[in-house]
Amino acid sequence: MTVPEIFSLDENPDWPTQGPYEYADHYSSQREVVSFDDFIKTRHARESYDHVIIGAGPIGAALAYKLARDRPDGQLLLIEKSWTEPDRIVGELMQPAGCQAMERLGLGNVFSGIGAVPVHGYHIAYSGRHLFVPYMERPDGHGRFRGNSFHHGRLVMNLRAACKAQANITCLEASAVELIGETTKNGRLETVHGVRLGPSRTTDEHGTSNGPIVRPRGLTFVCDGIMSQFRKHLHGSPVEPISHFCGFVLEHEPVANSTYFDGPTGATEHLARVGEKGVRENPLPMPHNGNVLLDGVGPVLLYQMSECETRVLADIPGSLLPSEAGGHLRRVLRQSLEAAASKSHFPGLQAQLIQALDGSRRIRCIGSRFIPATGKSAHGAVWLGDALNIRHPLTGGGMTVGLWDVVILTDLLASTTSITALSEDPSTLRRIKAQWHWRRRPRALVVNVLSVALHALFAADSQELGLLREACFDYLSRGSRFTMEPSGFLSGLLPSPMLLLFHFFSVAFLAIRLRITGRSTAYTGGSLLVRIYTAFYTLYVAASVILPVMWTELQP
Ligand SMILES: Cc1cc2nc3c(=O)[nH]c(=O)nc-3n(C[C@H](O)[C@H](O)[C@H](O)COP(=O)(O)OP(=O)(O)OC[C@H]3O[C@@H](n4cnc5c(N)ncnc54)[C@H](O)[C@@H]3O)c2cc1C
Repeated sequence: MTVPEIFSLDENPDWPTQGPYEYADHYSSQREVVSFDDFIKTRHARESYDHVIIGAGPIGAALAYKLARDRPDGQLLLIEKSWTEPDRIVGELMQPAGCQAMERLGLGNVFSGIGAVPVHGYHIAYSGRHLFVPYMERPDGHGRFRGNSFHHGRLVMNLRAACKAQANITCLEASAVELIGETTKNGRLETVHGVRLGPSRTTDEHGTSNGPIVRPRGLTFVCDGIMSQFRKHLHGSPVEPISHFCGFVLEHEPVANSTYFDGPTGATEHLARVGEKGVRENPLPMPHNGNVLLDGVGPVLLYQMSECETRVLADIPGSLLPSEAGGHLRRVLRQSLEAAASKSHFPGLQAQLIQALDGSRRIRCIGSRFIPATGKSAHGAVWLGDALNIRHPLTGGGMTVGLWDVVILTDLLASTTSITALSEDPSTLRRIKAQWHWRRRPRALVVNVLSVALHALFAADSQELGLLREACFDYLSRGSRFTMEPSGFLSGLLPSPMLLLFHFFSVAFLAIRLRITGRSTAYTGGSLLVRIYTAFYTLYVAASVILPVMWTELQP
């Protein structure tokens, strides 16, 4: 099997570590964040910036760092509305390809000192059966690729610390309130010349309509993320969520070193040991892996954020979330967790999940959307990260796609000699954007389409989708390329859309076989004629899951 674009990922000597967290220490001589007031009063506002970056989330911060390193003599402005540590339920597991991208950006050490936990693959539990999908082997023979899971806020603070240590990045605490430029007659933003700033807290004395405008010599990068206010310039109307992820934290004893394992053999032994003797050091069926339980209302995802904390994310399908009032949301979550944990047959898991749910004062929920990227954006600006492109978070691929977008784009920009040509000569930027979209597409498409397709199967709300879920589980259980190539899609290491289609339709044909031969436990009953009819209807359902998403992703 060929694995394109493999780069070395150095072992971190101090990994895995426990607190205290020392992110600031990795990067010497960090500069202060400039406040909005100081920015207006001092020379900063009059500075001539090469580029302006809106948002210091994982993508904006990584982009600023790389741009600053590529042109040490240039000046960058990084605008973030809050430089305090984010506390969110997003972006806590980075797939191996995302870790590779970090390495490529010169940020390979961002996982150290934050209590990050290695991730070796995924464990999936479905109707009492268990499956381990390890990450791929490295072509250099040094074991398997691995990902990392962590506290999102700690990773972001490490990235921001890296930016603050760059002398040519001005880190500003302010809100970008408006993109300044020219619009067409129908109100579409055609060209961006700069950004209007406002204070990050609305209680500040400054109004937003007369805030200062920063006009970069080069480009404005829009990285304002999941809740982007500037995405409206790319996509007209807001997109409804497919489902919601509701999350809380389960605290536990640290995982003993003895339970570390690497690869499928260790994992199988671990599962057998837990199954037979009920030995548990931690509530996760398989520590140091993403754990997916498929028997809930929607899929339930468990992964460690540190050695002593596990994130529980329960998917609630549908665009509307049950209301918190009257405990409706908690009841749905409880029902989902009980069903998922009891059918996984893991000793004690159900009790621990319910105890943690009852003990959580706040359940945090966030909508899961699919928003495809578009290559058509205003001249003078580039949208990146979740401001550009969102996929279902089930497969944890958001940061991987965003970071590879940064790698590809900064490589292209580094070969451009003139910063001003980017803003003054429309053809230069148009050419770069076209190349960027072409190069980013294979990986983005595979990660995005996989996330939406897997969610449809795993949240199965019809008998046909239930049959496809069963077939998918059987297919992945076959081992060799039936396990490892899908693992490559999940990890972002195998960006091959054709191979993804091949495996998806192989699953669909397996579903047909299960149904016609009457071996399916998910879709039972019916005469042979009915079974043949419903089997082929399932093929239609499979096609209608994947092809429209794929088509949308292929649009320019
Ligand atoms: C429930 C859930 C779970 C997820 N889990 C994973 C996972 O395990 N792995 C993974 O890879 N991805 C995951 N994702 C996706 C991942 O979180 C995103 O892809 C990632 O956070 C995108 O980074 P970003 O920098 O583009 O945006 P964000 O992380 O949203 O950061 C945007 C930044 O911009 C700032 N900002 C916003 N507006 C302004 C403004 N007007 N002015 C100034 N600053 C502004 C914000 O304060 C923020 O700091 C998950 C998503 C969800 C919803």
